[in-house]
Parts: sequence; structure tokens; C-alpha cells
Amino acid sequence: MPESFRAILVTRNEDKSQSVSETELTETDLMEGDVTVAVEATTVNYKDGLAITGKSPVVRRFPLIPGIDFAGTVLSSEHPDWHPGDKVVLNGWGVGETHHGAYAGRARVKGDWLVPLPEGMTSLQAMAIGTAGYTAMLCVIALERHGIVPERGPVVVTGAAGGVGSVAVSILGKLGYHVVASTGRPAEADYLRDLGAAEIIDRAELSEPGKPLGKERWAGGVDAVGSHTLANVLAQTSYGGAVAACGLAQGMDLPASVAPFILRGVSLLGIDSVMAPKVIRMEAWRRLADELDHEKLTSLSTTIGFSDIVPAAHDIVAGKVRGRLVVDMGAES
Ligand code: NDP
Repeated sequence: MPESFRAILVTRNEDKSQSVSETELTETDLMEGDVTVAVEATTVNYKDGLAITGKSPVVRRFPLIPGIDFAGTVLSSEHPDWHPGDKVVLNGWGVGETHHGAYAGRARVKGDWLVPLPEGMTSLQAMAIGTAGYTAMLCVIALERHGIVPERGPVVVTGAAGGVGSVAVSILGKLGYHVVASTGRPAEADYLRDLGAAEIIDRAELSEPGKPLGKERWAGGVDAVGSHTLANVLAQTSYGGAVAACGLAQGMDLPASVAPFILRGVSLLGIDSVMAPKVIRMEAWRRLADELDHEKLTSLSTTIGFSDIVPAAHDIVAGKVRGRLVVDMGAES
């Protein structure tokens, strides 16, 4: 009998609604791939929340194991780059959307999708960063490439107390930027200051319909929220500035005007972590290993067990989660 492992499975009912259950699977239940990994740690990202609650059509093949990222150890490999015992990280590539994902004891994936776990980092630390943190680093790299250095002026981070936001505040603060953290949770002001925020603003300042152009308040920004918030962030970006847009926590719409682009030369930088080329992933993970303060990473993450995944998915969609959630697959909860 092949060894079994725990897994979360999303299935589709006859009326096209979704059901989520905990089950036992074996490696024969996994999809095609050339590397099999023992999953040691994973996370609950906003997207995982959408997948498990069914609030957005993230899961596009049924039945499916959700979970868009993991860290673990290679058990077997037919890929030339990977050997049993190698420590690896996976983010995106449709895992947890169309390919069986992280919420299981084992994952079988394409070797081309994997990156090495950075030297000196544990699986749990990598997943404290997770896709949210890796995306935050992609946003920072995009701003830097656009010349948004600390000397250019403040940078705003929206959804600051969330996963992407917390890591973005932490990285930008460490790099010496004057970080303006926008949050709807004033109770998290001390947490955000500890992470590296210089100023805290109420997200209500940005979340309502605004003017095409406003007072120039920041040289750039990391936006995890979209909708009116992104429109207002753009309208208040100073001449020649840039905003890295990665999220839609407020909405997928962008009710903006072209004024910031054509009158102030502002740039909107789109960030996608799912299909990002390997070379950029490697750079992001190397910089996360070198530049993210490990103490801050601990302070912004909460470790949970396998059985906590489904309730946590509901909490993150309800905006109740602070920072990052790390799932220790070896722990019982
Ligand atoms: P979290 O839920 O951890 O954080 C989102 C934050 O957005 C919340 O904590 C809250 O911050 C703020 N927020 C929530 N609802 C609203 C609202 N209605 N209006 C204004 N602000 C709101 O999610 P993640 O950090 O994991 O992800 C953030 C976004 O980035 C998501 O939309 C996710 O899908 C996207 N994403 C995109 C990726 C990509 O490749 N482009 C990769 C990873 C994530 P606060 O309480 O501080 O106000």
C-alpha cells in the first residue's frame, strides 16, 4: 500500500458550488510532474482565501488541492536540476489553481517551477515570506528599476497590515525609504511602526472616489488594494514617480483618469508573481534572504497547523489576518 498523507480537497457540486474537505491521498492521486516534494511549510495567502471560500474562481479544475506556495524537500526527481534531499520553494505557476497545490503532505510539480531555498533560510521562514512577501519584493525591485530611490521622497504602501503590505513596509523601511503605511486598522499602528513605517494614514483617505489629480504626496507606492485606492495613490504621486500595482483587495476596477500619466509622467508598474520568469524569482528570493530582517519576519508572521488552514482562509478574505500566516505541515493543531 502506498503511504498516505493529509490533503485539503476542493470539489465542485452539481449546482457548481464548491465544497472543501480534509482527506487522505497517496502519491498516485497527484498530477503529472517530474519532481515530488515533501511539503514542510506553506501559507495562507489572500488568493488561497479566495480559492477555499470560492469567493473568486481561483480554482479552475476539480477536484483540486489548493495552496499556491510551499517549501519542502525533494523526495524524487527526474529533472536534471533537482535531486532527493534538495530544499526547494515554489510560488505560483498555476499551482493551487489548475495543478494540485500545497495543502497536502506531498506535491508533484514541474522542476522548472522550483527555485532553491535560499542558503540559511528554513522552510518555515521561506513561507513566512511566501507569495505575498515575494510579491512585495517584486514591487520593490520594480520601483528601484524605475529610479524610485529613498532620496526621491516618501513611498506609500496600501493594505499595509496585510501580507504583501507588511513585508513591503519592512523591506522599504530597511532600505531607508520614508514609508507611509495606509491601513484600515489603526490598532495596528505600533505594529507597522515597528516594521518600518514612518507615517500611518487611514485607508479611508484613499478608498473613496477622488479627484483626477491631488497634492503630490509620495514619489511612489506599492498598492495591494486596487480600485479607488490605486486611483487616488496615482493622483497623489509626484512628478515622474511610479506605483507598483499587485493587488485587488478593494476591487479589480481602476476608476482613474489619465491625468497622473500625461500631466505628471507618473508610471503604473504591473506586478505578476505567478508567471514571473525564473531569473526574476531568483533575484527576489536572494534579496529577501539578504535584506529582510529575520526578527521583523518573525514579528509579522503567525504559525498555524494544517487543520487551521480552512478557518484561516475565511479570516483572510474577511480582512481579519495581520501580516503573514505560516502553516507548519509537521505540526498538529
Ligand atoms: P491580505 O488579506 O493579507 O492583505 C490585504 C490588505 O488589504 C488587508 O489586510 C487590508 O489592509 C487591505 N484591505 C482589505 N480589504 C480592503 C478594502 N475593501 N479596501 C481597502 N483596503 C482593504 O492579502 P495579501 O497581502 O496576501 O494580498 C494582497 C493583495 O495582493 C490581494 O488582492 C492578492 O490577491 C494580491 N496578490 C497579488 C499577487 C500578484 O502576483 N500580483 C501575489 C500576491 C498577492 P489594512 O487592514 O491594513 O487596511
